[in-house]
Amino acid sequence: MIIDCHGHYTTSPKQLAEYRAKQEAGVKDPKLDPGKANLGISDEQIRDSLEGAQLKFQRERGTDVTIFSPRAMGMSHHIGDARVSEYWSQACNELIHRCCGLYPENFVGVCQLPQSPGVPPANCIPMLERCVKEYGFIGLNLNPDPSGGYWKEPPLTDKWWYPLYEKMVELEVPAMVHTSASCNPCFHATGAHYINGDTTAFMQFITGDLFKDFPALKFIVPHGGGAVPYHWGRYRGLAQDMKKPLLKDHLLNNVFFDTCVYHQAGIDLLLKVIPVDNILFASEMVGAVRGIDPETGYHYDDTRRYIDATSVIGAADKEKIFCGNIKRVFPRFKAPKAK
Ligand SMILES: [Zn+2]
Repeated sequence: MIIDCHGHYTTSPKQLAEYRAKQEAGVKDPKLDPGKANLGISDEQIRDSLEGAQLKFQRERGTDVTIFSPRAMGMSHHIGDARVSEYWSQACNELIHRCCGLYPENFVGVCQLPQSPGVPPANCIPMLERCVKEYGFIGLNLNPDPSGGYWKEPPLTDKWWYPLYEKMVELEVPAMVHTSASCNPCFHATGAHYINGDTTAFMQFITGDLFKDFPALKFIVPHGGGAVPYHWGRYRGLAQDMKKPLLKDHLLNNVFFDTCVYHQAGIDLLLKVIPVDNILFASEMVGAVRGIDPETGYHYDDTRRYIDATSVIGAADKEKIFCGNIKRVFPRFKAPKAK
């Protein structure tokens, strides 16, 4: 079985964007407050939105199931207050739940959280519990920067985040560290802010001692770990200078990297540098980069090809990346029943 641990519902029916536009109008003019979502999206519309996109790519690329979450850019926790974020996250998570219900063989859910700048993340616990216990979701996306490119929250190792981590450990759900839209014109969202977020989170983990307090807490650093694998020597050296343990002992029981690296040489480097037990297959389809690479003739985000083609690791290790490691990091993952 090939599990893609990082996919987003980037193709949702237009009613979702229309509701968000009403929310944004309501932020500017409270008289226009739209309240909770009433999207009026039919099952047929959901099917149509998936059949020509995520499901088509699953079939074409030979992957089996996608761990599926709301559009990451759309989380935009900087918009409005915690109430706006609550209603918005609820609407997005409900849609993921419906996708998983319509295609239980193809999708397993991961939630976004109603984070809001300056609001303690403990406010996200009720939604996380609902998504895990009622919807059967198996993980969450955690935005380390709800301000959208201005980095106003404490680092991920700060006790600010601890109540949420306690709940994650209790529920046995990992978090993918995933930034959202950038309001800072210096940072292109998917090209800079996402990769900055990945790299920043990893350096925060090095600097702190979070996993002494939470030995069972698990994070996925997406997009191949940002700059981390390429600069592995720098991070090992910085940890050494800080008198931290070796990174394999300090972080690698708790931190995992996905394979959303969109070229062969990048994947080969990831596989050479990071222990195979810490790598999880993912494509982020349909996501940040949607084009076809003229050098290969295939989509950049068809990441299975790079794993299949690499000679850095053998078949048993590829199986770990495609499946075994993901089941270990997402203990709530259950293999869908065969069709
Ligand atoms: Zn993503």
